[in-house]
Amino acid sequence: MSHTGSGIVLLGGGVVGLTTALLLRQRGVEVTVVERSLIGREASWAGAGMLPPGRAMTAESAEVRLRSFSCLCWSELNDLLQRLTGADNGYRICGSCVLADAAEEAEREAARWASEGVLAEVLDGGSLRQRFPMLSAACSAAVWLPEFAQVRNPWHLQILRSACESAGVSIVENAGDASLECGSGRITAVRTADRVLYPTAVCLTSGAWTGGLLEQFGVQSRIKPIRGQMVLMRVGAGWLPGVVECGRRYLVPRHDGLLLAGSTEEDVGFCRENTVAGVRGLLEFACELVPELAVAPIVKTWAGLRPGTPDGLPLLGRVAGCENLYVGAGHFRSGLQMSPGTARILCDLMLDGRSPISLEGLQVERFSAGVWKGASCER
Ligand SMILES: Cc1cc2nc3c(=O)[nH]c(=O)nc-3n(C[C@H](O)[C@H](O)[C@H](O)COP(=O)(O)OP(=O)(O)OC[C@H]3O[C@@H](n4cnc5c(N)ncnc54)[C@H](O)[C@@H]3O)c2cc1C
Repeated sequence: MSHTGSGIVLLGGGVVGLTTALLLRQRGVEVTVVERSLIGREASWAGAGMLPPGRAMTAESAEVRLRSFSCLCWSELNDLLQRLTGADNGYRICGSCVLADAAEEAEREAARWASEGVLAEVLDGGSLRQRFPMLSAACSAAVWLPEFAQVRNPWHLQILRSACESAGVSIVENAGDASLECGSGRITAVRTADRVLYPTAVCLTSGAWTGGLLEQFGVQSRIKPIRGQMVLMRVGAGWLPGVVECGRRYLVPRHDGLLLAGSTEEDVGFCRENTVAGVRGLLEFACELVPELAVAPIVKTWAGLRPGTPDGLPLLGRVAGCENLYVGAGHFRSGLQMSPGTARILCDLMLDGRSPISLEGLQVERFSAGVWKGASCER
């Protein structure tokens, strides 16, 4: 059993934990990431890597605020990763075509984006097919978002890990379920099977698993796993000239000719298996949008567990009643997009005691009995 003082401990090595660790280390802090199994192999690996734009950091909506702040932080993070590793994380501005049922809906959607200061162009059937000739004739209206980006999340995670290691972050993998020991209103130790760490602060970046950890502090996070299935196909480079979104499903082309079709939203506990119905639904969706996909080879299928919350937004901040315990979890469908902003916020909160943007609507205790202050939008 090893006993070490370990600075700030992040419990969970997904995109949120690794990005936060890197930023903390950049500020000279000793940091340890404790990962229950393997670094970067859960939701952050499974996601599509879509990064919607945002430019309204003072918006009333917490979602818009955090998305916009994160958008700004992506370019800083990319520069840092490039400097530390020289590797390509697949970040590309690729644009996204958001399909609408009718012209009026496309106009409303475009106006919503424009009100945030985001570029948005309404496409009618003709201009839609000019840009995306392979789309089915049934697609008659859309909004084109030219600033929409994507990242190759499996590459991004590997690069984050390398950057963390080269910057001096300690990484403990296969740690199993760590327990937190408390005394006098603070975490005094983090205990795993083979070591005890004595942290100055602890941050829970444990994705869909964070709820159980928070319960011992009286916080009802209501974070639960929501399975998302994916199908990867091969179509050829440049075949689809941007992301296509239709409701909560999408096609995401990679620059090397792969194409993702995603995704399902299933409340089935911690089960990561693909199902016949899930994969069939995605293939039917893909072929309805782009009939030619019927002959595309399938490369792979997988499923991941999004950390879902009732309002789809993360719990972000310090846990009341425990002076050195923080949370950054529950990002549901947006954890890759929101990871650089979340990491900056956690870093500033832990080191300076203040957040660079308002955290109204993202409070850790908002779902706990008697404390809930947000809008009711249960799914
Ligand atoms: C199919 C799918 C598509 C998606 N598409 C997108 C997208 O296009 N854009 C986007 O922005 N987001 C997307 N997401 C959502 C995004 O992937 C998640 O919101 C994000 O990855 C959450 O990151 P995380 O670091 O909080 O969680 P995770 O990546 O799940 O990492 C949490 C880590 O904590 C570890 N852990 C758990 N408990 C403990 C413990 N007690 N001790 C130590 N370690 C622990 C886990 O093993 C895991 O490695 C998608 C998700 C899925 C599943």
